[in-house]
Amino acid sequence: MADGRLSITVLGSGTSVGVPTIGCHCAVCASDDPRDKRLRPSVLVRWDGHAVLIDTTPDFRQQALTAGIERLDAVLITHAHADHIMGLDDVRPLNFRMSGPLRVYGSAETIGTIRQTFRYIFDTGPTESSVPKIETCIFDGQRPIRVGGLDFEPVRLAHGHGTVHGFRFGSAAYLTDHSGIPPESMEKLRNLDVLFLDALRHRPHPTHSTVEHSLHTVEELKPRRAFFTHICHDLAHQATEAALPANVRLAWDGLVIDVDSPRPAGFRVLRTLEEVPSDFGPCALTIGNFDGVHAAHRSIMRRVATIARERGWRAAALTFDPHPALVVAPEKAPRLLTGIERRCELMHEAGLDEVLVLPFTPEVARLSPEQFIREVVTERLGARAVLVGHNFRFGRGASGDTAALHELGQCYGFEVEICPAVRCRGHVVGSTQIRKLIGRGDVTNAWRMLERPFALEGMVVPGEGVGSRQTVPTLNLSEQTGLVPLGGVYVTRTFDLDDGRRWPSVTNVGFRPTFGGERLTIETFLLSPLDGPTPARIRVEFLYRLREERKFESAEALKMQIFRDVKRAERFLRRTAEML
Ligand SMILES: [Zn+2]
Ligand SMILES: [Zn+2]
Ligand SMILES: [Zn+2]
Repeated sequence: MADGRLSITVLGSGTSVGVPTIGCHCAVCASDDPRDKRLRPSVLVRWDGHAVLIDTTPDFRQQALTAGIERLDAVLITHAHADHIMGLDDVRPLNFRMSGPLRVYGSAETIGTIRQTFRYIFDTGPTESSVPKIETCIFDGQRPIRVGGLDFEPVRLAHGHGTVHGFRFGSAAYLTDHSGIPPESMEKLRNLDVLFLDALRHRPHPTHSTVEHSLHTVEELKPRRAFFTHICHDLAHQATEAALPANVRLAWDGLVIDVDSPRPAGFRVLRTLEEVPSDFGPCALTIGNFDGVHAAHRSIMRRVATIARERGWRAAALTFDPHPALVVAPEKAPRLLTGIERRCELMHEAGLDEVLVLPFTPEVARLSPEQFIREVVTERLGARAVLVGHNFRFGRGASGDTAALHELGQCYGFEVEICPAVRCRGHVVGSTQIRKLIGRGDVTNAWRMLERPFALEGMVVPGEGVGSRQTVPTLNLSEQTGLVPLGGVYVTRTFDLDDGRRWPSVTNVGFRPTFGGERLTIETFLLSPLDGPTPARIRVEFLYRLREERKFESAEALKMQIFRDVKRAERFLRRTAEML
């Protein structure tokens, strides 16, 4: 699905015990209609090569085999009732096919119950059996969960006395188990193309919506189409549908629904040339590695967006992954300022609609400047204007320059705009310059050139525990593959990437010489209370370097120094509060 469309596959449409129900001989349980065979409730959402699963039911293995699931970008859990989570262990074969752990999103309550129910998965002790590799992420309902450029917005629902979540994504929403929808959630469900909702049966139930109740919801929200799910053996497929309005149907296992306008935000990332749809252009395009997406990159991207809006084109960027230097001369390749996912996010923020991340293969490296422009830029992307920086190079051995681009523009009929260098306090802004600044700890000047603080992201990993016992509580950042600031102590800000919490902080980059450490560690000490569970994933923004890392005579001396660091950090943060 490279056309920006989104599809929803119903993996299960049945209630908690499934239909047929064990030991039951009613007409529906005995029915030959395949649509009366209902596994436990779950859907698979797919778009642009991405896949998100909602709930891992006890039938997950069978559902994954039927739907041909080979990899998942994430799992969203509506709530921790057994019929929605018990298949979690069966994600193990997906782990073998994926590089990192599988992300599982849920509310704090849901994740808490999952961690209890599947304690063996999260035990850190040694084990001889294979357990799923899972990273749990808590959402707070304030911010959407962004996966593959698509936002999933949690929608709070009442399920008896409990609170559970449905999800809205693009113009679709999936609301399984619920008995009521609070008014603020109703507001999140306007203008839907497709609405899936719980309709257990006709008779009232304390924790589930009924056919009649869900028909009321449909009347109020007026989605273009509605599908009932979480159905028990009271409802025969054919007979029930016959009595429903034409735009309301019963879901059935295997049903695939294509959704209109999957992305109201209008941002898309394409990962291969083949994914580029034939009607991609016309576009205004910028080309580059864009490491850091710094002030000069952003000024080009804003100009691309302006031209595109004026002429009714798409605003697009073509970038490369891995960084060409890693392919051409890996031993000389720099450590990067931003990973590819963060780069795409920042390009979106800079106003672009489309990013093509071209895998930088030896084949791509061999394209001549003329071939690259003809085959990729004009034929595939339909560029009508190409905007690049003054030092732009392209094609085999970087043999094409801006003069060559001008010539090719005349030949293939696109405008060329060479954007002037951007200066910051007398220095030309560039990725190499920013890497140098960060490499010597000058994160404040890097911040100016980036137009935002330099940041590291990653999972929170258990520290050696020395910090929490001997000095102050800290969050340890997982190992980094990109650029890390010069060792030392920094004023930072820390963000929970999953629920929007943020804290002023002080971060130590270094080897913890006082405790005889040898591995590089990045430890962040929060200056305000955690106020909730320990975050799973954080971003640490580096604002100012306080001092170098030093070895202290005793833990007590270190503690005193940290106390002084904190005072200075608080002064710095007060002074710069407005800038932030
Ligand atoms: Zn259920
Ligand atoms: Zn039955
Ligand atoms: Zn439930």
